[in-house]
Amino acid sequence: MRNEDQYKIDLEICPMPVLLVSSTGEIMRTNRRLNDLFGFAHKELVGQQIEVLVPEEVRDHHPDLRDAFFEVPTRRGMGTGRDLYGVRKDGHTIPVEIGLDPVEFHGSVMVMVSVVDIRERKSNEAMIRRALDAASSAMIQVSDSGLIELVNSRANDLFGYPAGELIGQPIESLVPDRYRRRHRVYRASYENDRTTRSMGRGRDLFGIRKNGTEFPIEIGLTPVEGMDHLSTMATIIDISDRRRREQHIARKNAELRRLNEELLQFAYSASHDLKAPLASIVGLLTCCEKDLTAGDVEEATANIGRSKMLADRLAKRIEDMLLLAKSDMVDATWEDIDIASRVEQIWSTLDHYGVTLVTDFRHTAPLRTIGARLDVVLENLISNAIKYREESAEENIVKVETSDGPEAFHLSVEDNGIGIPEEYRDRIFNLFQRVADSHQPGSGLGLALTKKNVTHLHGAIALESRPGKTVFAVTLPQGRSLTQKDRETA
Ligand code: ADP
Repeated sequence: MRNEDQYKIDLEICPMPVLLVSSTGEIMRTNRRLNDLFGFAHKELVGQQIEVLVPEEVRDHHPDLRDAFFEVPTRRGMGTGRDLYGVRKDGHTIPVEIGLDPVEFHGSVMVMVSVVDIRERKSNEAMIRRALDAASSAMIQVSDSGLIELVNSRANDLFGYPAGELIGQPIESLVPDRYRRRHRVYRASYENDRTTRSMGRGRDLFGIRKNGTEFPIEIGLTPVEGMDHLSTMATIIDISDRRRREQHIARKNAELRRLNEELLQFAYSASHDLKAPLASIVGLLTCCEKDLTAGDVEEATANIGRSKMLADRLAKRIEDMLLLAKSDMVDATWEDIDIASRVEQIWSTLDHYGVTLVTDFRHTAPLRTIGARLDVVLENLISNAIKYREESAEENIVKVETSDGPEAFHLSVEDNGIGIPEEYRDRIFNLFQRVADSHQPGSGLGLALTKKNVTHLHGAIALESRPGKTVFAVTLPQGRSLTQKDRETA
């Protein structure tokens, strides 16, 4: 049998579509399966360039690839790593897999091209992909050697990668640097005990996005058996929101614990603080009884007057305590404050006892803060400045000054009053703390209330004092420079 006839027979009995192509790209032979696959009649392709079967996008470039093959003709698959397509006579493209075999024909080297129609496989793959992409969880399939084989679109979105970029990369590229080494060890131990389970029980797991940001995740692992190797499907859930909620609850719990402790301390101190004046009132009323029995109306009237005064103070104290109790529940509305009008308004509600108000407002931007809290601060500092004036001074002055920077607002209330002895300075911000020989009525709550409100506003308060000069300096962050979280906890 002639060589050529032998090829003819070989081509026809070959169970897959094949064609013989010369080194110049001319189609020399095709079998029926090939003609059927591409929709050509018998012999219709013979004599044509192989490029008629190549999609238009790669057609121009194809002769170069062909030349490269014929430079070193070896048996191999074509287009490794790329999706290959052939063009049918009717112009439709079909996905194919192609094998190349150099053969000798009529004394020249040619290539026997075998074509595998992979339409069904591709359509199954597409179906699986659609199902994976429809899943609400991020899914990544990893081979037993740790390489990413499959990524659904949710996973690409979650980690910030364009489709396809993660394929073939080690799974460790999605693990933050500091966990990478350990991750390889965990993966190896998983390979010895492949079961469906969640990953990293008892450990916090993190993923890293393409842009380098980390986020907490939860991972479920399911072993998958492939044709020739084992893989694992990892289902990944971004738990950032849950973590944020947990942290929020933890913060709230800590705050509740603090408030409870404060309440307890408050209850102890309050009962102690209220008992003494109550006992005095009871004592005075007992005296009244005796005075009336003895017919001493004048003394009885005087004692009633004293108990009334004590009762008034007590009422004021209770009012202050209520203010303090309520100070954690202020409506946290952040607003731009007009300090001048706030100070003026507060000043107008106070008895001045001849004290002069001096203001020096040097701030450039309005203070953004919670007005209700700022009022408590201003009112207490200004009323104390009046209350603790030096009676013998030529002139009593309260000076309110402001200044600001990009991040902070400074407010100070200064007086030329009696001053606060050194040994009391640490204590006076605590509940019910008063300077021992203070002759002024008060409950020792004003500065505690002031400090509490400044703290709520994420600010700080400092004190400088000597006889003739006391300055309370408050530094408040500008509300707009605070984070949302800070604002919520104010
Ligand atoms: P209260 O005025 O009701 O005693 P505060 O908490 O407002 O309570 O103040 C605590 C103490 O600090 C006061 O009793 C007073 O002795 C001292 N103090 C506060 N402000 C001044 C001031 N501007 N000058 C001098 N002493 C002050």
